[in-house]
Amino acid sequence: MSRPRIVVLGSLVVDLVVRLPHLPRRHETLIALDVARHLGGKGFNQAVAAARCGASTSMIACAGDDDGWGSFRALLEAEGVDHRHVRLVAGAATGMALPMVLPDGDNSIVLLPGANAALDEGDAERAADLVAASDALLLQQEVSPTASLRAVAIARERGVPVFLNPAPARPEAAELAEDCDWLLPNEVEAAAMVGRPVRDTTDALEAAEELLQRGPRAGVVITLGARGCVGMTHEEHAAVPALKVAAVDPTGAGDAFCGAFAVARCEGMALRDALRFAAAAGAHAVTRVGAEPGLARRAVIEALLASGGA
Ligand code: ADP
Repeated sequence: MSRPRIVVLGSLVVDLVVRLPHLPRRHETLIALDVARHLGGKGFNQAVAAARCGASTSMIACAGDDDGWGSFRALLEAEGVDHRHVRLVAGAATGMALPMVLPDGDNSIVLLPGANAALDEGDAERAADLVAASDALLLQQEVSPTASLRAVAIARERGVPVFLNPAPARPEAAELAEDCDWLLPNEVEAAAMVGRPVRDTTDALEAAEELLQRGPRAGVVITLGARGCVGMTHEEHAAVPALKVAAVDPTGAGDAFCGAFAVARCEGMALRDALRFAAAAGAHAVTRVGAEPGLARRAVIEALLASGGA
């Protein structure tokens, strides 16, 4: 089949990951152990994930007119992601996060939404033709729900399926979760939505059934980290275990999974096959430090699937 066309409306965030001996105290100048700069944001990660899986991918986003955008543009171009609908906001900073990681692995994050906060309904409207010409619209919750809702309305009018990864959890955005085709929360987000813990496959299938009743037109997929994932549609359900891999950093697993799942479904893969493909993309993501370096190309995902893990 021809390459699926996927449009991602979402965030661009430069991550400056600082490793610290402890959190800084008031008035303290603390010497960091090291600093690593990664390009991220759930929107960016999922766009790159979809592109590396073989989709023709576009992004609707906002960036500042600064160095941060220059780095994103270079990487988007290298991956062949169309960025004509990334709007540069004069005087704004590109989104930035300062994850502070302590020796025990605990982390605290300072987030500056920057230009991401400027993404609005107008951005969705200006991209209406792009959305209409796509095979899927992929969304997360790091940008304003009003921009996302407008894009969803445009997609629905034109019969374009909407894949929503409701991350980070935003209770005020429940409307979005009810008006998508595919809802893809992780266990924490799913638990927040149903109001009880989601610890294993049994809990996840029950939660998926409940969430499906609230509106998603096609199905619900819940990811459970190293415990795999479940998927439920109005006709069938499936639970897929995680591949066994040497995990070094969980960052980006969900983004890899969502990008890959959207591509797989656009290609017409059956539910279980799409879950297995996406789970392999998620498994690969945890074998690399940082999100973007762990987003695998299709051949790598297929090799991982064929080998049953690494
Ligand atoms: P999020 O990053 O949103 O919390 P998850 O941690 O649930 O997402 O990961 C998404 C998917 O990636 C999982 O359903 C699983 O298939 C895969 N995955 C995540 N962690 C691991 C792991 N440690 N080993 C193998 N696969 C994993």
